[in-house]
Amino acid sequence: MSAELPPSNLNVILLHDQMVDKTGKLVTTSLTLIDLHDIARSCRTFNVNKFYIAHPSPHLRELAHTLKSHWNDGFGSTYNPNRKEALDHVQIVSSLDEAIGRIDLETGQLPKLISTSAKDGGERIKFEECRSMIRENSSPYLLMLGTGWGMCEELLSRADLFLEPIKGPGQYNHLSVRSALAILLSRLV
Ligand code: SAM
Repeated sequence: MSAELPPSNLNVILLHDQMVDKTGKLVTTSLTLIDLHDIARSCRTFNVNKFYIAHPSPHLRELAHTLKSHWNDGFGSTYNPNRKEALDHVQIVSSLDEAIGRIDLETGQLPKLISTSAKDGGERIKFEECRSMIRENSSPYLLMLGTGWGMCEELLSRADLFLEPIKGPGQYNHLSVRSALAILLSRLV
């Protein structure tokens, strides 16, 4: 077990409902196990408090529970304890609101929501400012990640803060959510 750090006030949630597809249509994307694995490891590496994976489908949530239990108490827990440690901090929920409710229960405060997108536009907060805010406040924060072609406007607008996009030197900007999250955490923590 890695040396214990004090629990962080930063949480992460991967969302699948209220996404848009390439035509801008509202869709619910599919949960993928590689997202669960990879993002859990990034979250553990950066001492994120909890990684919530939200999906409205009970079947897909069951799939995520099966994976989590394999690594938490199945063969995987002895075969690869590092993976177990990462998945210990994964919470499987049905929605953003359920995750908000759990954080409120755990901390006695509603989390400040931080939305993300590769696209420009909107009133964005800089990484440095967001990092200082998280560090200087003890209140909980919930970093929202989308899937597909990103979160719909309604979901983005629920957030208290809208983080600036990660940008490369050119116009091309199509990071996977796994890669984007790792970069976001390296700039926020
Ligand atoms: N074009 C989509 C968008 O603008 O959100 C990218 C979708 S990407 C497959 C899924 C998620 O990864 C996004 O909803 C966002 O949470 C995150 N993401 C991807 N690229 C990002 C970037 N350059 N900056 C910030 N977040 C990014």
